[in-house]
Amino acid sequence: MKLTTAPSLIDPARDVPELLRHARPAVRLHPRRGTPGVRDSHIGGPVWWPAAEPWPRCADHKDTGGRAYALPMVAVAQFTAAGFPEIRFPDGTDLVQLLWCPDWHDQPHPQGWGQACRLFWRRSAELTGPLGEQPDPAEHWEYGEDMIPRPCVLHPERITDYPGGEELPAGLAERFGAWLEERDLADDLTTVPGYKLGGFLGWGTTDRPDPLDCGDCGAPLELFLQFDTTEYGLGTFGPDGAPHRFRPLEERDAEPGDAVGDPLREPVDMIVGRFSHGGLFTCSADPRHPASFFTQ
Ligand SMILES: [Zn+2]
Ligand SMILES: [Zn+2]
Repeated sequence: MKLTTAPSLIDPARDVPELLRHARPAVRLHPRRGTPGVRDSHIGGPVWWPAAEPWPRCADHKDTGGRAYALPMVAVAQFTAAGFPEIRFPDGTDLVQLLWCPDWHDQPHPQGWGQACRLFWRRSAELTGPLGEQPDPAEHWEYGEDMIPRPCVLHPERITDYPGGEELPAGLAERFGAWLEERDLADDLTTVPGYKLGGFLGWGTTDRPDPLDCGDCGAPLELFLQFDTTEYGLGTFGPDGAPHRFRPLEERDAEPGDAVGDPLREPVDMIVGRFSHGGLFTCSADPRHPASFFTQ
């Protein structure tokens, strides 16, 4: 199934050409609930984990009596180089897996707020042995049910993303804001919502950390994967009262608010941040350096 984003009401080439040089490619993942294959790219559901490796646990927890305990981590996402050539895989790797601790962490290394994350970069040709046991995520709903993803298959769509005002030069952010205000338009162009690889995160709730650098080597961090509580906004948008631009054209018959429409709008069923979104950032020099997660 192909899912398609409607064009923006703003055409940067015609309306605000200064924006063009800040554009970045991104991939809307369009997760939808399903039964992904263990070797496929997906969100939620089991990953291709070798039986020879123990399942990772997060040991950074204490009970009310001060005794340390460990939580099994949760499989969050998996991407293959064949499906997502735009991911900068380290040499010799073609599979990346994201696991996180379902409980809240204030300051995972090197910085961030939200989940303590680990990325595993692998060479799929080496995964010849049996698959390892993975804990049933339902077993640890009690720790953080908001941050356990439903199994979803992906319907990737390549798009162009633009930074929000926090990441534009001050003059340009003001000129773009004034251009929108003169036309009584809302911004449906920048910081594309929903699950996506690459592009830009909106930092409207907290300020963007400055600098946003790798704790290991000091290189700038870049958005790897955005998480979002919902894929698109409710209601109508723009002067012609069309649905939200980011509600796929192929799904406009299904109204959010019922048993058909809600799973399309909230497929992963995680409550990210304050019912908002978050981003996993990786080092632009070496994505094997520790990743940081920030929620909004
Ligand atoms: Zn933890
Ligand atoms: Zn680094």
